[in-house]
Amino acid sequence: MTDSHSLSLPSGTWPTIDPGWVWLCGAGPGDPGLMTLHAVNALRQADVLVYDALVSKEILSWANPAAELVYAGKRGGKPSAKQVDISLTLVDLARAGKRVLRLKGGDPFVFGRGGEEAQTLIQHGVPVRIVPGISAGIGGLAYAGIPVTHRDVNQAVTFVTGHDKTGGPTQVDWAAMGRASGVLVIYMGMKHAPSIREGLLAAGRPEDEPVAVVSQATTPDQAVLETTLGTMVGDIAAAGLEPPAIICVGRAVLMRQVLDWQALMRGETPRDLDPLGRGKPAEQG
Ligand code: SAH
Repeated sequence: MTDSHSLSLPSGTWPTIDPGWVWLCGAGPGDPGLMTLHAVNALRQADVLVYDALVSKEILSWANPAAELVYAGKRGGKPSAKQVDISLTLVDLARAGKRVLRLKGGDPFVFGRGGEEAQTLIQHGVPVRIVPGISAGIGGLAYAGIPVTHRDVNQAVTFVTGHDKTGGPTQVDWAAMGRASGVLVIYMGMKHAPSIREGLLAAGRPEDEPVAVVSQATTPDQAVLETTLGTMVGDIAAAGLEPPAIICVGRAVLMRQVLDWQALMRGETPRDLDPLGRGKPAEQG
């Protein structure tokens, strides 16, 4: 893990961004290595890069040196008027004949308003290509050693946002979700953690249900809190965790006791080789 080498795209034919096109690409949750090859290919070509707050500086440094970098960041559920501005900026850049890369954290179509931006572009006759990315709710949890599904825990996983369009608490049916889904992966949940906790407890989820909060996942500042539904609000405050963070509710969190691979890389030993009580490896089907 100590040696380094420069990155070039594997040989093959890579698509070119034509002038007047907008590529809407996911940048992944933070670690630049989690970008797709299509996104790297786009970074190398684009004349203009319009990027969000969650896109890392290292990724931006890979852009074509001649490219213009435009920051379109916005955090914490600000009014959507600004969203229209961003979409119309993209339309203007494309109409000016630029090769435009719109780079968004995670996956552009997962709680990222990428659908709205692409729709506006298409409504204005601007051609688009969509490049998916690794979403924080999957890749960020994997970096914490938490699999979002596990045969012994859940046959469904729910991705849910902690706040709605206005920045208020999500108007979701927690009772239905609490019953239907063994694992809940909550984006943008920090501000409304108290109401999320209330909703899930009211839905019958136990106080001692395992919860993990993964902040700045996949970056050098990644921090993971293991807590329970009952105690999560106080524990988040005590740990001083800040957004961006993913909250994962469900017994899959226990798997971190064996799968915290970053701790293993640091030379630690697993806390429990069989946290879900599956039995010895030879007995498992
Ligand atoms: N399109 C993004 C999500 C954007 S919404 C994706 O697919 O990942 C912003 C929310 O994503 C944050 O509030 C947080 O809940 C989550 N998020 C994004 N990056 C994160 C990271 N590196 N660590 C933890 N959570 C992250």
